[in-house]
Amino acid sequence: MSDLRFDGKVAVVTGAGHGLGRSHALLLAERGAKVVVNDLGGALDGSGASTGPAAEVVELITKNGGEAIANADSVATPEGAEAVVRAAVDAFGRVDIVVNNAGILRDKSFGKMTVEEFDAVIAVHVRGAFLVSRAAFPHMKEQGYGRIVNTSSPAGLFGNFGQANYSTAKMGLVGLTKTLGIEGARAGIKANAIAPIAWTRMTETLLPAEFEAKFTAERISPVVAYLAHESCETSGEVFSVGGGRVARVFVAEGPGWRDDAISVEGVRDNWEAIMAEQPYLQPTTLGQQAGASMQAML
Ligand code: NAD
Repeated sequence: MSDLRFDGKVAVVTGAGHGLGRSHALLLAERGAKVVVNDLGGALDGSGASTGPAAEVVELITKNGGEAIANADSVATPEGAEAVVRAAVDAFGRVDIVVNNAGILRDKSFGKMTVEEFDAVIAVHVRGAFLVSRAAFPHMKEQGYGRIVNTSSPAGLFGNFGQANYSTAKMGLVGLTKTLGIEGARAGIKANAIAPIAWTRMTETLLPAEFEAKFTAERISPVVAYLAHESCETSGEVFSVGGGRVARVFVAEGPGWRDDAISVEGVRDNWEAIMAEQPYLQPTTLGQQAGASMQAML
């Protein structure tokens, strides 16, 4: 089978000045995509800004024989997100791929988390992905083709101490991915999400030292590239990715318990059946989930 190439395709990778985004941008460019390397260039908590990180990645791509332009707008504002997509259209005439990767951290235990710390994290991860996808969506619709890859996290899927803001944002991206998968279907737009684990500036103080060699950003990017490729038919899914392992993550519902005369005590007395996992249902749409509940009533 032939290699997967991106010749003639245009990709926007947000937060591509460092870490995972940088690695995604390098791989897509190496495989022929023209890339908009977006990065605000701030600190891990989102403070500050610099054009340096995006420019350095563009320099590296160009040195390797690829094509890329730098953009240092913030994805967290409508104007910034629109400017990112406009940069792609102005420079390369189209936008085929959006990798929503930009992210910040403002970790704090729940009792101490401020509204500002909560909002700042939601703004970059959730609003950012919404706004950049929203700006690209009409272009993708018009060309009847597009690929969106969002960046969730195990911290969102499973929760993590000190990350109420971040886990809310990262699970929010799962909802966005699923609905984009549904709404993009008719226009040939596929949306998926990854929940990565990799050694970057975001995790280097949290992960054990032995992770550095194995959990590299380069072991995440092939999954992003595949999900961004025209040949990938999957949409609305989430993948756990790290250290070379890839696994589908899915939301399932247990077989459940029902009683027309449901009561508080009935719920208490049947807690074991309510908590049971097997045989689980795995609805892929709200309609399927509602259908399963209807079925249980027959
Ligand atoms: P990173 O800090 O190296 O990269 C994030 C990049 O986003 C930075 O270069 C930063 O400047 C940029 N950025 C921040 N705010 C921005 C904004 N408003 N507009 C544009 N760019 C902005 O960290 P990373 O680990 O490479 O993180 C990449 C993504 O992966 C993030 O969404 C992160 O939450 C997610 N993630 C990472 C891990 C991991 O193990 N590293 C795990 C789960 C999820």
